[in-house]
Amino acid sequence: MSETSPRLRAELEGIPTYKPGKPAAAGGPVAYKLSSNENPYPPLPGVMQSVTSAAASFNRYPDMACTELTAELAERFGVPQAHVATGTGSVGVAQQLLQATSGPGDEVIYAWRSFEAYPIITRISGATPVQVPLTAGDVHDLDAMAAAITDRTRLVFVCNPNNPTGTVVRRAELERFLDRVPGDVLVVLDEAYREFIRDADVPDGVELYRDRPNVCVLRTFSKAYGLAGLRVGFAIAHEPVAAALRKTAVPFGVSQLAQDAAVASLRAEDELLGRVGALVGERTRVVDTLRSQGWTVPETQANFVWLRLGERTVDFAAACEQAGVVVRPFAGEGVRVTIGEVGANDIFLKVAEGHRG
Ligand SMILES: *Cc1c(COP(=O)(O)O)cnc(C)c1O
Repeated sequence: MSETSPRLRAELEGIPTYKPGKPAAAGGPVAYKLSSNENPYPPLPGVMQSVTSAAASFNRYPDMACTELTAELAERFGVPQAHVATGTGSVGVAQQLLQATSGPGDEVIYAWRSFEAYPIITRISGATPVQVPLTAGDVHDLDAMAAAITDRTRLVFVCNPNNPTGTVVRRAELERFLDRVPGDVLVVLDEAYREFIRDADVPDGVELYRDRPNVCVLRTFSKAYGLAGLRVGFAIAHEPVAAALRKTAVPFGVSQLAQDAAVASLRAEDELLGRVGALVGERTRVVDTLRSQGWTVPETQANFVWLRLGERTVDFAAACEQAGVVVRPFAGEGVRVTIGEVGANDIFLKVAEGHRG
């Protein structure tokens, strides 16, 4: 037997493995998972029905072109079908965007702290991550991000609202930023939480992309639409970018179950967006209560809140877990807490009350 092991790419060394939100502990009296920004509502009966029907044919490959879903999305957003590209969650699509644009020697810019998948998928591509710190108010520093662009920059992520802080960038500042980005640099507007936004000054990326060929909008069915476990997301982008996404897609990546559930979800959009409305109501209640307890909470437009706890982060997360809710700690920085069921939010608020007055 050989003593050597297969040669792996040097880029993989030191790349952290994506850390999923911890599951709720089994067996406890109450255990709610508020650690992955999932939708707490169970699947709608009609969506469930579409999935069980599709399951009867899972001996077959899915429709590789996602024809029906692509047509529905094009119609829903008023864009050409050629501008829609689907993938295995929007993280899957983001990884394809990196494959299509970036490699060793190239630079990829994103805010930090932001979505933890960005450094992982950037480093896997071989490109160099350029992390631009959030402002003191936990918002994207778009001026600093524009200033960080060099002739090596290939892609810039703007996460709006930002995960894990929930903060947004608004129309005027985002347009000013886009005007400064060279046309050969792809700007990816990651709008995973778009449906939770209630601030009218936050622009819809789909409007911004129309006359900007270097803007790509990422959306997902995982959050507002409640299909996190089925893995389907999509991009809206002009033809060269959308075509590159079709080239870099894993063949048959999006299952027929996911495609059919996504189509059924678009058709049940009113009901699903009603649930989003209820979660937004809970978000208001949670934020107001935290502030009345004396916490400083950045304004969130997503389905989670951010508490900057610094050194107390890990202890606070442990106290939450003991009380029956699992949250997402970022050691030394803060915790991200998903807005969940009313009972779960109540438990979190009670722990928060005990930790600050
Ligand atoms: C949850 C999330 C996604 C969505 O991931 P999927 O792969 O579609 O499940 C994308 N971007 C951000 C910032 C997220 O928080």
